[in-house]
Amino acid sequence: MTETNLRLLKDIDEPGLHTIDVYERRGGYSALRRAVTELEPDEVLEQISEAELLGRGGAAFAMGMKAGFVPKGDTDNYMLVNADESEPGAFKDRVLMQKTPHLLIEGCLIAARAIDAVQAIIYIRGEYEHQADILERAVAEAYERGYVGKDILGTGWDLEFVVHRGAGAYIAGEEMALLDSLEGKRAHPRMKPPYPANVGGGVYQGPTLVNNVETLCNVPYIINFGVEEYRKLGTEQSTGTKVVSVSGNVRRPGNYEVPMGVTCREIIYGLAGGPPEGREVKCFLPGGSSSPALTGDEGLDLRFDFETLEAAGSMLGSGSVIVVDDSQPLVPFALRLAEFYRHESCGKCVPCREGTNWTVKMLERIDSGEATPMDFELLAQVQTNIIGNCLCLLGDSMAMAVGSMLEKFRDEFERHAEEARARNEAALVEQSAPELAAAPSIGPM
Ligand code: SF4
Repeated sequence: MTETNLRLLKDIDEPGLHTIDVYERRGGYSALRRAVTELEPDEVLEQISEAELLGRGGAAFAMGMKAGFVPKGDTDNYMLVNADESEPGAFKDRVLMQKTPHLLIEGCLIAARAIDAVQAIIYIRGEYEHQADILERAVAEAYERGYVGKDILGTGWDLEFVVHRGAGAYIAGEEMALLDSLEGKRAHPRMKPPYPANVGGGVYQGPTLVNNVETLCNVPYIINFGVEEYRKLGTEQSTGTKVVSVSGNVRRPGNYEVPMGVTCREIIYGLAGGPPEGREVKCFLPGGSSSPALTGDEGLDLRFDFETLEAAGSMLGSGSVIVVDDSQPLVPFALRLAEFYRHESCGKCVPCREGTNWTVKMLERIDSGEATPMDFELLAQVQTNIIGNCLCLLGDSMAMAVGSMLEKFRDEFERHAEEARARNEAALVEQSAPELAAAPSIGPM
């Protein structure tokens, strides 16, 4: 992507951007000023809706529609930022919060204005201590400048702003579990409805708009430059840009901002430099560890947008591309992913609690050469039985990633088990050879 097309990462290398002085010097908080002094809350909401900004946290729900569900009038509404970025492969929100915290705060304030919120809360992943410190300092600066607190910019609007640190559980990033965690309970997903935007469903029972960090960082641009300008980048259905975290077997892993709709090849080879010399992309997970794998052949020339990846049987998710080259065995990779999900499962529902555990056990058997031919079929069946049968998406996430790798690389899984078994047998023969040599000979009968 050319530098002129950058939006969220445009000033990211500007020294001191995390301070309010530098952020304001680069035009920061002008969108908020416009949103609260020139526009009515409904007009702000209208612009976000017309921009068709889809959530960047994974679910791709339209932000404007979600905000439109929040009732206005007699209720105490809340604006909640989901900054519990914990999925393997995802590290885009971390850099946004660390380098340009005021962009997030400004986007959050504009969204809070659109739903007439009384309090804004950033729930940040517990391990992101450095980023939480930066955010707390930035919020304090915003209070001092009158962007937060009482009578914001002289408009009579009051809003409190809190940074809340999580305690290190991946499941707290699931929005219903996040609400419980915020209220001091164990992070367990809840049944829906009520949804967070409904009365009784959100923070302290109040209607709550929950959005991801990157989603909100898009909002100031929409208000500053208008819907038409915003939609100039991206596709008809996936508007704007996307910050992509690229990791795995590439020469230049990192965060890249691209217009929605560039090809996966442009991201993996063009920006991230492709796999090391002499290697090819075996497969990649385009939307983080919870997305179905695409082989290099089927996926590299697809457009990186919500609709194309979904039509190809995968998903854009959080936009975290994990690349596996042809020198890497897939079984240990799938096993590591399954171990992560088993560890992070809250245990509330059976398909996820048992399914993640049995998936790990079967993958361990395949990896160690102890698998029977039945294990491959059983492993595939367990994944199918998890998908669509869990309370939240954690179980499905593992099953989609592991199931797709098994389906597309079944030969490799079987070969891996066969080779491990052959190694075990060879080791056994080697171990027993000295014993056989030392055994007394009976001699000819
Ligand atoms: Fe808990 Fe897993 Fe069920 Fe989600 S799918 S509620 S993490 S047991």
